[in-house]
Amino acid sequence: MHVASTGREAAKPRPTLSSADRHCSTAADSRHRVIIVGGGFGGLAAVNGLAGLPLSITLIDQRNYHLFQPLLYQVATASLATSEIAWPIRYLVRNRPEVTTLLAMVVGVDVDARRVLLDSGDSLPYDTLILATGARHAYFGHDEWEAFAPGLKTLEDATTLRRRVLLAFERAEFATDPQQRAALLTFVIIGAGPTGVELAGTIAELARSTLRPDFRNIDTRTARVVLIEAGPRVLSGFAESLSAYAQRALERLGVEVELNRPVSECGADHVVFGDRTLATRTVIWAAGVMASPAAGWLGAPSDRVGRIMVLPDLTVSGHPEIFAIGDTVTVAGPDGKPVPGIAPAAKQEGRYVAMVVKRRLRGDTSIPEFHYRHAGSLATIGKRLAVIDFGRMKLRGALAWWIWGMAHIYFLIGLRHRLSVVLNWLWIHLRDQRSGRLITQGGKTDGIQQ
Ligand SMILES: Cc1cc2nc3c(=O)[nH]c(=O)nc-3n(C[C@H](O)[C@H](O)[C@H](O)COP(=O)(O)OP(=O)(O)OC[C@H]3O[C@@H](n4cnc5c(N)ncnc54)[C@H](O)[C@@H]3O)c2cc1C
Repeated sequence: MHVASTGREAAKPRPTLSSADRHCSTAADSRHRVIIVGGGFGGLAAVNGLAGLPLSITLIDQRNYHLFQPLLYQVATASLATSEIAWPIRYLVRNRPEVTTLLAMVVGVDVDARRVLLDSGDSLPYDTLILATGARHAYFGHDEWEAFAPGLKTLEDATTLRRRVLLAFERAEFATDPQQRAALLTFVIIGAGPTGVELAGTIAELARSTLRPDFRNIDTRTARVVLIEAGPRVLSGFAESLSAYAQRALERLGVEVELNRPVSECGADHVVFGDRTLATRTVIWAAGVMASPAAGWLGAPSDRVGRIMVLPDLTVSGHPEIFAIGDTVTVAGPDGKPVPGIAPAAKQEGRYVAMVVKRRLRGDTSIPEFHYRHAGSLATIGKRLAVIDFGRMKLRGALAWWIWGMAHIYFLIGLRHRLSVVLNWLWIHLRDQRSGRLITQGGKTDGIQQ
């Protein structure tokens, strides 16, 4: 909700404290109040960067966990458990007495009164607001496809996809009609960016090796994994040589790669792409994202996918007290191109904003613009291969996979999670066993024999 602002520097009287205010400050508390919306990569980096300052920080998230999205596809493909890639936010900030964590959904910002509006009807006052609300799926004007082609963004999405993939094999084991069985054993992934490539490679491995000995009526190796891409190559954000390598590696795993074929229809039992119709019961959407609605809350300028066009210091135009970071914003990098929507960018932005707040508190006005440093782009293809684009240096194959693996282990939080993920990966490599092969959260429509 945007409430029109009358001027950026106007002195604002502090609003009367409501019952919700006790969450972030008290009347006697004169500390500067920072509200951070979103406990993802950007929001947490900001919280960490603000440690040690005389602030009252309120961290609001609609979920009670911080999610390591880069490994979500491994939950969706039964390789890891949900608890291995997510941490309770409250636990992560347990040693920060100045940080209050709220499980709540933000539905708007009253920029004039400087209050964050919650879906409960409460509102919270801020002196500085940091919006780090990320992105969601985008179906390019075809929201009706979501029911047939779910995307991958949350833990719930990952367990939904896992259920759909595993149920398809279970139903195929029952099926007597060859056409029905073939449709059940056809898995379509739309979008050949890193997530699409990772999903396609892993589902192919699941079918070719992990599941093979466990079924009696079907040969899971006959499953088709079809990766559909509207553009001319897979991993379009990577160098062409790495795209070509990734495509060859996918095809060796048995994935059918369909390029230059925009999808024009998704249904419960089919997908139409180019001039082809494919019978399938499992379609996964990995084709597009859209920013959170934060731009609408502020009435801020945004790009075509809804990202707030922030200023070079990551503030929102006309509101030096409001920062926005991560996937919900667009800002130019050093090469003039938009900073990519990846975790390192969100973290760098979070750390930068914390630095700005710190300097402002000191009265320091010499604040440099945000400068993004791109470390590289990584993607895996199945359990042994990966591609890494460091710019001048490009790596592929098993070495790239080891670097990818070590980087991801390093960025996981906590020793227990790291050990647990390493052990799971070891088991997958040595024994082809995936411990997460559980069909959970079934709905009424999940009848096995459909
Ligand atoms: C499947 C997948 C794979 C990916 N793989 C990689 C990868 O390999 N490498 C990489 O670098 N990046 C990867 N990314 C991208 C990376 O995860 C994002 O760039 C990063 O998470 C952005 O951080 P963020 O803080 O902007 O948003 P997020 O990490 O998405 O956090 C946003 C937070 O805001 C909360 N929130 C949103 N709206 C509200 C609201 N209204 N009220 C309260 N809380 C709200 C959400 O619950 C969430 O916790 C991947 C993303 C996905 C989905």
